[in-house]
Amino acid sequence: MNLNTITEVKRPASADQITQWRAGYAWLAGGTWLYSEPQVLTDTLIDLDALLWPALERSPAGLDIAATCRIAELYRFSGPAEWRAAPLIRECCNALLASFKIWNAATVGGNICMSLPAGPMISLTVALEATYTLWPRDASPRDVRAVDFVTGNHGNVLRPGELLRGIHLPAAALSKRFAFRRASLTQLGRSAALVIGTRSTAADDLLITITAATPRPIQLRFEHAPSAMELRHALDERIQADGYFNDVHGSAAYKRHLTTYFAEQIRAELAQPGAGA
Ligand SMILES: Cc1cc2nc3c(=O)[nH]c(=O)nc-3n(C[C@H](O)[C@H](O)[C@H](O)COP(=O)(O)OP(=O)(O)OC[C@H]3O[C@@H](n4cnc5c(N)ncnc54)[C@H](O)[C@@H]3O)c2cc1C
Repeated sequence: MNLNTITEVKRPASADQITQWRAGYAWLAGGTWLYSEPQVLTDTLIDLDALLWPALERSPAGLDIAATCRIAELYRFSGPAEWRAAPLIRECCNALLASFKIWNAATVGGNICMSLPAGPMISLTVALEATYTLWPRDASPRDVRAVDFVTGNHGNVLRPGELLRGIHLPAAALSKRFAFRRASLTQLGRSAALVIGTRSTAADDLLITITAATPRPIQLRFEHAPSAMELRHALDERIQADGYFNDVHGSAAYKRHLTTYFAEQIRAELAQPGAGA
């Protein structure tokens, strides 16, 4: 849609050119959400496109994803064989309810900064133990763990004017075995629950990441694989019955049921040697 409150679009070649921040400014990434509804409080868009950050950089340390990397570009990435969890990238890209236009325009950073419960780039990066690099306007860059970034439905730790610069997925997490489960009320609908489990190849640890069913990502870390009962207790203790996200994409009770069901499936799957490889 046309945003008739916008009076200026800035196209800086470097983020440093935006030294002052005021109410009414908004970073513009793919624009798929910004242009989807009126932005009555916004008068200036600052387009990230001209920053020309390299979308994907692979190194022995892991994968660095620019916030401006398109979801379609990330989808095409294929990692080395030892990154057993790399197929999670496609699973999570496919979890974005998206038309052709959204798929090709939406960015990884825009999805994370929207901070919706069903943000699949949040699911992916939290499950893979990512670190986000944030660029404040008036201070040094800071790193935050992906699991600490989203604070609630459409809420996060970004301060006014702060820019998400990039996402680092560590090679150690990319090398883990994984299991993925997702459900939606409609075939191409927004996720009601998206649960990912990862496990080191040489240990019997388990990391369960719950997204979409809760307002913010919830992660359960076990040093040793839990029994079904231990997992159930840990889930109930960590997420109270009213801690699930109730919306048109599923009631809280339904999402609780899915979460419990999927978490147990994942536990059982990853307990089998060689599964999720
Ligand atoms: C029909 C439809 C269906 C959708 N379905 C889903 C869905 O299933 N799940 C979901 O999560 N979202 C969904 N969305 C919302 C949105 O399209 C996606 O979240 C998308 O990934 C946003 O990315 P973008 O690059 O287009 O962000 P933009 O629209 O450009 O920006 C989104 C917000 O993030 C801010 N922002 C963007 N990049 C940065 C950055 N690097 N640093 C700081 N702030 C930044 C912007 O200022 C803005 O507030 C849907 C939207 C539509 C219209």
